[in-house]
Amino acid sequence: MTDVTFDAHLIDRLRSAQHIVVLTGAGMSAESGIATFRQGPSALWTNVDPEEVATPKAFGRDPERVWRWHLERRDSMAAAQPNPGHIALAELEQHVPRLTLITQNVDGLHRRAGSHNVIELHGNLLQARCATEGTIYDTWPAPPPLPRCPECNALLRPNVVWFGERLDSALLEQAQAASFDCDMLIAIGTSGLVAPAATFPMNARAQRALLIEINPEKTPLSRHVRYGFRQPVGHVLPALVAAAWPPSARALAPLGSPATIKT
Ligand SMILES: [Zn+2]
Repeated sequence: MTDVTFDAHLIDRLRSAQHIVVLTGAGMSAESGIATFRQGPSALWTNVDPEEVATPKAFGRDPERVWRWHLERRDSMAAAQPNPGHIALAELEQHVPRLTLITQNVDGLHRRAGSHNVIELHGNLLQARCATEGTIYDTWPAPPPLPRCPECNALLRPNVVWFGERLDSALLEQAQAASFDCDMLIAIGTSGLVAPAATFPMNARAQRALLIEINPEKTPLSRHVRYGFRQPVGHVLPALVAAAWPPSARALAPLGSPATIKT
């Protein structure tokens, strides 16, 4: 793996950033062994029709089938581990005044890596929600029988956004607001094709935020960024955080000095 280098301007901007927005897509979790949507033989939709398992209509028609498919996916996600990229983002959050992590992934790996300020735009497959009034549950009785809402007895459904469904408007508003407020945006493993996520980097750029992309593949966003890294995220992010806040400097620095981690 070729060594990744960072110029002084990038390191300065990172150290002095007041609000960083990080936008992550399927490529962020691919290095944890989670299938992306369309790439490669193990791609998610190679063997199943999304209309059969990931739409409100499918749930109305055959909730058992929908639950079975989502539980298989949940189990494979639960078995995956946060990769060094996830862990570096959790550490980065400790170094800067504010970091908003907007993810299109439903695997919950950012939270498991220790990130706090996470907006899960497409939901979280480790959760369920009431199909009627929307209450979200972290624990619920796995089917069979079909799980029901303890509040209103309606069916519970996987807490993910299905095809043909709108994103949660409150989460979307939070993400939009953050993208208009940040001074740096890092786009990781996302194609930058899917709206509304694709608008966030453009909002940030309109505010003169520094745009960075980490993605082995070029994307439509690539021509708009100031820094583009084509190496794996698990390689680039830990190196970037260590370059800005060298572990040795952190160990030596007296408590409370800029180089130390917020406790
Ligand atoms: Zn309910």
